[in-house]
Amino acid sequence: MNKDDIITLPHPSLRQKSQRVGIVTDEIKNIITGMEAATIDWEASRKHEVGVALAAVQVNQLFKIVVIRNNYDNKSDHTFTTLINPQITKFEGEIVDDFEGCLSVKDIYGKVPRYSKVKIKAIDENGKEFRITAEGFLARILQHEIDHTNGLVFIDHIKDKPEAFFRLKEDGKLEALDYGKDIKNNSLLW
Ligand SMILES: [Zn+2]
Repeated sequence: MNKDDIITLPHPSLRQKSQRVGIVTDEIKNIITGMEAATIDWEASRKHEVGVALAAVQVNQLFKIVVIRNNYDNKSDHTFTTLINPQITKFEGEIVDDFEGCLSVKDIYGKVPRYSKVKIKAIDENGKEFRITAEGFLARILQHEIDHTNGLVFIDHIKDKPEAFFRLKEDGKLEALDYGKDIKNNSLLW
């Protein structure tokens, strides 16, 4: 897979719930490899952004699979961790608003409220269960990606918040969007 396999809004699959993976077959492993390749290829085409994570629905495969970069501060590290059937078992900490973007929502960024700490349960590519306790940015990524497996996009959390929408400019800076004009009734988003 490559960046052209990544679907973007208003593709209807992005608002559909993905199905759980039963057995981790070769087909599932191929999807995971394809997701990683598509994320790296997408990043190579974007000057100011990092491909931090991807859910299978974003390559139009409706399975509960998420891949997350092991080192998103270092673009040359192309290794990922795979979470199959990821589930949040506990929300903790406080709710924090911060910027989020998405490979399936072109150029739009949002200030999204998320819990600062979550506990996650998932299985790995060998079918073995593991648990993660995540804080800060990783907790935010995991909530964003698990939302994808349930048919939710980050903008769905802020749809009634005019001040929460931003656009990525050519120079890599964010500027506030006009909610009434660009967002509220935009049929490409909702
Ligand atoms: Zn996303």
